[in-house]
Amino acid sequence: MTSTPTAPSTPSVVRTRFAPSPTGFLHIGGARTALFSWAYARHFGGEFVLRIEDTDVERSTPEAVEAILQGMAWLDLAHDEGPYYQMRRMDRYREVIGQMLADGRAYHCYCTPAELDAMREAQRAQGLKPRYDGRWRPENAVGRTPPADVRPVVRFRNPVDGSVTWNDLVKGPITFANAELDDLIIARSDGTPTYNFCVVVDDWDMRITHVIRGDDHVNNTPRQINILAALGAAVPAYGHVPMIHGPDGQKLSKRHGAVSVMQYDDDGYLPEAIINYLARLGWSHGDDEIFSREQLVAWFDGSHLSHSPSQFDVEKLKWLNNQYLRQCADADLAARVAPRLARRGVDPAALGVDVAAACALFKDRAQTLEELADGVAMLLASPEPSPQDLATHLQPVSRQALADFADAIASIDWQRDAINAAIKATVAAHKLKMPQFGLPARLVVFGRTQTPSIDAVLALLPRDEVVARIRRHV
Ligand code: GLU
Repeated sequence: MTSTPTAPSTPSVVRTRFAPSPTGFLHIGGARTALFSWAYARHFGGEFVLRIEDTDVERSTPEAVEAILQGMAWLDLAHDEGPYYQMRRMDRYREVIGQMLADGRAYHCYCTPAELDAMREAQRAQGLKPRYDGRWRPENAVGRTPPADVRPVVRFRNPVDGSVTWNDLVKGPITFANAELDDLIIARSDGTPTYNFCVVVDDWDMRITHVIRGDDHVNNTPRQINILAALGAAVPAYGHVPMIHGPDGQKLSKRHGAVSVMQYDDDGYLPEAIINYLARLGWSHGDDEIFSREQLVAWFDGSHLSHSPSQFDVEKLKWLNNQYLRQCADADLAARVAPRLARRGVDPAALGVDVAAACALFKDRAQTLEELADGVAMLLASPEPSPQDLATHLQPVSRQALADFADAIASIDWQRDAINAAIKATVAAHKLKMPQFGLPARLVVFGRTQTPSIDAVLALLPRDEVVARIRRHV
């Protein structure tokens, strides 16, 4: 048995690519593939190519291209080359098809769809696996005149004997017998090149050394390797990463929640947290759960890629996002929260509130920027407490204490310590337990009974605003 040589020639520069089909937004699975390809190139000081596989004209849209570019930019997965667009490379594909026809590596096949159906039927009836029987291979078509009324497809002359083996970066050695592989159609009867062929010519022309992609492409790989070998091209190394599943063990899909990467932006996740989370979907570095992009690049050498599907766990992502929120500088958080406050119709400048200080206070308990924005907006919006809450928490003792507190703070130096001292004095003077002050104080100032530490949240608002909000209710 002969074996098609598939060892990559050891080129000096590692070149990877991300090759999305623009039929929708950048989804979690695609982003993970992009991240792995990017990190692998960065680890080896190589180059990362972006290629838009837009030959499916029915399903590809410019909006999807934009969405993918936007997703890549948001995740800061910068490409060194591209984006290349396959639709702009049609002449090149035709050129290669022409060469392959000219030197016998490909041939015209004149089978009609009806003939192919009959061929498959006959094979099935004999208990054989349906496949193209090679009837128009040059050696089988000697003396036969091509029908004048059939526009032929072009088929690749796949080797008939031997096998194709590659040592998958993720899955280890994989072998396909050539007998299992049809003579692949590389150009349709209208002359347009087919998917697997475009990928091959691109990977060749773009000098890709390592193809990292989803394992739904494993069956394409032996065909692509055979064509590359026929072209005399260096065969890249391949790594096929297993799928991402939802918590129920099914392939991740919309019913598991957001799959669009940009939806995670809308929902208030930090791109750094998403990157960290995606890196752990199918790859590990010891027990490390939280690591920087730089660490990922330093560690990501193609080892420790998981053989089995990984599970998307939104609770873990939220936990991680909270860790990143905590680490984030307050001024940075304030900038990220600003558009979210604007969307809520609240303007921190109007009250002179320091949003960075507010973020510092809320970030520990917030899982997303949206929750952080909710916290900050709560300070600014002065929502009306519900009558029911007022009836429960604003008892006469508390009402009197709050009235006195408003008087006491009207002239103090508006700092957290001084506010705290005023609270303690009020609570002592009225012989209250702390909640008898804290709950109604929160209610009249913020419209709710739960906030971070009362002295700290009050300090974020201007003194006069606090006094006015209290006096409105007592
Ligand atoms: N365009 C293919 C996809 O979006 C990827 C092809 C490849 O990586 O070879 O699934």
